[in-house]
Amino acid sequence: MNLPGDPTGLVPAPRNITIGDGSFPVAGARVEAAPGYEAVGRLLEMWLATAGRGVGASREEGASRVDGAGGAVAGAGGGDAVGGAGGGDAVGGAGGAAVRGGTGSDGLVRIAHDPSLPGPEEYRLDISREAIVLAAASREGALNGASTIRQLLLSQGSKLPILSIEDGPRFSWRGAMLDSARNFQRVEFIEKFLDLMALHKLNRFHWHLTDDQGWRLDIPSMPEIAQFGSRRQERRVNIPRMQGGFYTRDDVRRIVDFAGERGIVVVPEIETPGHAIALLASHPELSCKGGAGDGNEPFATEWRHGIFGDVLCAGNEKVFEILGRVFDEVAALFPGPWVHAGGDEVPKARWSSCPKCRAVMKSHNLRDEGGALEPEYLQGWFMNRVAALLAERGKRMIGWDEILEGRPRKDAIVMSWRGYSGGVEAARLGHEVVMSPQTKACYLDHKHLDLSEEPGQLGVCTVRDSYSFEPVPESLGPAEAALITGGQANIWTELMPFARHVEYMAFPRLSALSEAFWSPKENRNWDEFVQRLEIHGRRLDALDVNRYRGALE
Ligand SMILES: [Zn+2]
Repeated sequence: MNLPGDPTGLVPAPRNITIGDGSFPVAGARVEAAPGYEAVGRLLEMWLATAGRGVGASREEGASRVDGAGGAVAGAGGGDAVGGAGGGDAVGGAGGAAVRGGTGSDGLVRIAHDPSLPGPEEYRLDISREAIVLAAASREGALNGASTIRQLLLSQGSKLPILSIEDGPRFSWRGAMLDSARNFQRVEFIEKFLDLMALHKLNRFHWHLTDDQGWRLDIPSMPEIAQFGSRRQERRVNIPRMQGGFYTRDDVRRIVDFAGERGIVVVPEIETPGHAIALLASHPELSCKGGAGDGNEPFATEWRHGIFGDVLCAGNEKVFEILGRVFDEVAALFPGPWVHAGGDEVPKARWSSCPKCRAVMKSHNLRDEGGALEPEYLQGWFMNRVAALLAERGKRMIGWDEILEGRPRKDAIVMSWRGYSGGVEAARLGHEVVMSPQTKACYLDHKHLDLSEEPGQLGVCTVRDSYSFEPVPESLGPAEAALITGGQANIWTELMPFARHVEYMAFPRLSALSEAFWSPKENRNWDEFVQRLEIHGRRLDALDVNRYRGALE
């Protein structure tokens, strides 16, 4: 627990922290990393070089730093900056002059390998007057500790308090989903978002890449998909205009590398079999009717929001052939073990009347107890084929909780969004679960307050609601509770055309959720969090985050 008078304001709060007297001068400190931890060391060097230029600096200074560097947060981390000598170019150039030309103390920041720590993500941090020693059993643990040091640098400036921390996460899945389909964000913003995730020790970036309103992943073997699916007619103004964008292979590699350097696994989402209008825009033959309207019209990538009746036909083998080719590209680009395949909000009207879909239901005997053809089971059959396509490519499928309605494979991971009940049912059936309920907790497209002035949709979720989120429902026994691997914030962007708006909706609710995902339940304390948020908010300011500043509850 944090001691009273703890000046660090760390978010998420470390499990144990002891504050001593005195401070460690950052200026001139050099980093020494044990073998295998060199990349963490380079990140720390980059952050040390900017010490004292965060909260301590004037707002003007802070702003010019961000503007000048093209977003210090985003730009500094580019693969170049971290991988090569770029750390010096992007940040160290200016920072190096300030640091090494200053009142250098020649203090040491040492990253040590300590296999005796109780888990791979655990770390121990000791700051004395002479040295900072960060000990970890793995790169992930060291990155968690490095994030703590970075938070201290941002809030305490060039003198870090003497302290001792023992820390590690409660959950392995600490996720944030960003919807880049409804509105497209530049690579630079994705990097800024990932950087902020790492600051909060969040380690799973669920990237919603396809939906009715946009297909954002270029598939070079089928260029027509992004060509038609990534752009939509802007219909809110009376001037014909197409808007949108997509990510190339190089964009994705840059993002995956940037995330990986910060210990974040990117989990791409390709929506199936619903929310697929942007795919049908180039491949109308994959729908049950073969086209829009009576089946003879082309599909256009949607500009409206909601749920649409046309979905991928479950009785058309070409659907699985095309998905297989899409997953070839996905598997080649994303090194993580998981792919999210959607599965939510699939209207069954087309399947119920489609001769091809009905033939599959008959041949596989997908019937309800009364013997009638059951399209919910057809969805289960469809999702299991998708899971098999992914498994052939070495990936494990995640789906939204609707996949439970169709008897999914045991190894499918269920993401519970319609409240807790899907997650509870899934855990009882033996599935791994990620909790991201929309009920006043994890849906950051909801309004912060029930006021007409506040942006948002479909609900209200205060900062306190997010802070109070408990991923493990009391109704689960210990064995089932162990299947809850963590929690996730979801940022749907239908009403967020500008990335600055995403920042406003995400912070500080995502800061609050990071603690719900990280800290032991018994350590969480709202009043204390509010105090820490005073300090933490200034960190977000230093990183040029357009955070919400209104009432917290
Ligand atoms: Zn069909």
